[in-house]
Amino acid sequence: MSSALQKRIGIALFLGAAIAASAFAGCAYFEYDAAPGRPFILYNITLADSYLGIVHVSGRVLGSAARTASLGTFLGADGKRMEPIDFGAKGLDGTQLSFREKDETWTIESKGRDFSFEYDVALTVDDRHSVDVRDIMTFIDADRCRLLGRDVFLVPEFPIEEGIVVDFVMRPGWRVSSSATCIRSRIVVNDPADLPFTMTVSGEYRSLERRVGGSEIVLAIAGSWSFSDEEFFDVVCRIVSEEIALFGSSPRSRYLIICDANNAAGEDRFDYYGVHYGASMMLLLDRNLDRSELMDTPMAIIAHEFFHNWNGEALAPAGDEFLWFTEGVTNYYSYYVLLRAGVISAAQLEDRSRAIFERYRSNPYAANVSIGEAANSDMSDKNMVSLLYDGGYLAARNLDERLREDSGGRVTLVDVLKRMYENAHGSGTADESSLLSAVKELAGSDLSGYLQTLVHTPDPKPLVSRASALE
Ligand SMILES: [Zn+2]
Repeated sequence: MSSALQKRIGIALFLGAAIAASAFAGCAYFEYDAAPGRPFILYNITLADSYLGIVHVSGRVLGSAARTASLGTFLGADGKRMEPIDFGAKGLDGTQLSFREKDETWTIESKGRDFSFEYDVALTVDDRHSVDVRDIMTFIDADRCRLLGRDVFLVPEFPIEEGIVVDFVMRPGWRVSSSATCIRSRIVVNDPADLPFTMTVSGEYRSLERRVGGSEIVLAIAGSWSFSDEEFFDVVCRIVSEEIALFGSSPRSRYLIICDANNAAGEDRFDYYGVHYGASMMLLLDRNLDRSELMDTPMAIIAHEFFHNWNGEALAPAGDEFLWFTEGVTNYYSYYVLLRAGVISAAQLEDRSRAIFERYRSNPYAANVSIGEAANSDMSDKNMVSLLYDGGYLAARNLDERLREDSGGRVTLVDVLKRMYENAHGSGTADESSLLSAVKELAGSDLSGYLQTLVHTPDPKPLVSRASALE
């Protein structure tokens, strides 16, 4: 699989715990006029067995002139790959084609002809109760399903025409919503590189659509809630609108936002989770979420995940050691955006800041682990995950205040973030040195010593003295 594809696997998470603190009609016509050597591919997906979670995938490759054609799996969470069952390939006249499998790649002896292939995939339904929400994007139930592309597609490892067509007929009559362009049960993935990250839902999801700041926002929501779909969607759109305004434009033209119940089980679970993959974001909320909480801090989960479009995806952390910035700055701005969108008041924001600070202070890791060393690789290590999000929030807040002081109110943290994005053009990654140079360019100050203390020392002094002012 190409490294360009692998690079886009970046996952972003947000966790919230409600008690303690904070914690993507009509007539359709497609013309297949591929250039020579640029074949096009059409997939068809059906649900073979909802109880066992088995999906049947077939594909047709048309216009291929090469002797062989290879299809590969995509690397998923924790190094797991999709495992096709009963793979087979045929010429369009029905003759069986031979193929070989090596290193998770299936190479078909197509001899320059059009061909079709098919396989089944068993999707592990057990994962739906896992605290590692990275595994529960894909979900199959008797009445609905959501599928992340990488969990079902064998991806062509040869140049293909843009505009991959997928007929997504899981069950007759099931409606489809997707992060890709969608017409009835057919989706069109414009950029082949997006296929693994294309999220599609089908079945008992209600769908709402609105244009916000130049982007199409689609909400797919399942089950019953204490609030109406429309009022929830209204909060979503206000938040999205504020964030697009903050950055001036949005990286993508279409987003799918999925709202479903959080089924993660066990002591280590958070009350709600957010996961963001390219053009889709998933919000797993507590079914008991009170209607009044639509105007309260739990909605930070929406602001947080959407903010990752910029900080996390367009500007990705160069390594785990910069996660504090990606998660911390995103966490910090999620509440700021709620305030700007009129979802929360200044008093609610200060309450939340105080709660984050208190939880940070009572975190058993805080005395020995610096914010920069905190991680979210093990989602069941709740204290370590909280250290990253709470510590990151406080570090971002302190950094923002310091920038405002140094520049006489002229420079804010979001200005620095935008400058880092401009400077990273080409690489799209961020690290501490790109942060420090953006600060120097904008505010003229050298904050290397300050950052050393703030994020690389356990229980940092500047953090404590500043956040104490909230009490
Ligand atoms: Zn996040």
